[in-house]
Amino acid sequence: MTPTAPCAHITLPNPELETVFVIDAHLQMADGFVRCCHCNAHYLVEMMDLQSATVLYRVARVEPDAVAKTVRSLTRGSCDINRARSEVFSVSNAAVTLDGFLILEQGQFSRWYDASSKDIPTGNWRDLPCDGALVQATINQAN
Ligand SMILES: [Zn+2]
Repeated sequence: MTPTAPCAHITLPNPELETVFVIDAHLQMADGFVRCCHCNAHYLVEMMDLQSATVLYRVARVEPDAVAKTVRSLTRGSCDINRARSEVFSVSNAAVTLDGFLILEQGQFSRWYDASSKDIPTGNWRDLPCDGALVQATINQAN
């Protein structure tokens, strides 16, 4: 069973997360797998919005084994973007989207925002506005 809650460390200020694999990039990591440096919890992070050097991600918990398998498959020399996408799709399908957003500032994960009362945008960042509005709304609501 994939845990359905964030680990105790990701919600702390400046959570110590290590990038396992960058699936897609746009200036910074857009979609990718990260792991908690303390307990090895694995997450799929997907960009929902960005504003200059600040990126807002939705977060899903994923199985470390599934991540390892997908990364192996992605790095086995296949440059087929469709195949890569379908691999990632199968992992993200099994993932449990968490009620929280992560913010990356200047290349560092800085903060977890509770999103339990919010609609979390779905879909790929390329299909989202990415105009900074959601970054602003998230930061404003927390302050
Ligand atoms: Zn942890």
